Amino acid sequence: MNIKANIESIQNSIEKNIQLVAVSKTKPNEFILQAYESGQRIFGENKVQELVEKSATLPDDIQWHMIGHLQSNKVKYIAPFVSLIHAVDSKKLLKEINKRAKQNDRVIHCLLQIHIAQESNKFGLNQEEAMELLDMELTHVSIDGLMGMATFTDDTLQIRKEFKYLKTVFDKARSNHQNLSILSMGMSGDYKIAIEEGSNMIRVGSSIFGSR
Ligand SMILES: *Cc1c(COP(=O)(O)O)cnc(C)c1O
Repeated sequence: MNIKANIESIQNSIEKNIQLVAVSKTKPNEFILQAYESGQRIFGENKVQELVEKSATLPDDIQWHMIGHLQSNKVKYIAPFVSLIHAVDSKKLLKEINKRAKQNDRVIHCLLQIHIAQESNKFGLNQEEAMELLDMELTHVSIDGLMGMATFTDDTLQIRKEFKYLKTVFDKARSNHQNLSILSMGMSGDYKIAIEEGSNMIRVGSSIFGSR
């Protein structure tokens, strides 16, 4: 496992305007430091406790992204430091993020998760619900874009169709909300398709750090 080589090969294969989130969930700090030493600064975690523990011990200039499903009662633990929350999927959660951001005297940047997969167990909003959340007046939250996860399948046509759909939702949302700039889609198995369909933020774990 050569983490540095893996990161460099991904960085070299994507345009400069595409941000790479290195998904370090379940991986030890020493792996994260190897990525850090090769210049990587954005890391993604999907569990609150792991995110809190890692952020407390690793360098201060790491930008920590919460990429997993987030429960409202856990927002308070990450509110002081989280750099971007990818998977906001309810009004209740967004209100709680706003409240905790205010308590910490900061603005928390968020993405809305859109349900694009065929699997019904995946989280996310439909288009109409997302538009409703975008219209909320929140003083300490900045909704910067949308996020989605494609169906777990080998059918690349299906995956492409889902990413294409998310891009149309993104474009529609942007016509009323010009500040939306991030489209977070694509993981190790499908980020090349995601980029072809308009992604500008990819979340890559196993292709950097090895399988979990
Ligand atoms: C784990 C995870 C990823 C990364 O998955 P890989 O297939 O290891 O690249 C991306 N996004 C989310 C939301 C995840 O939970």
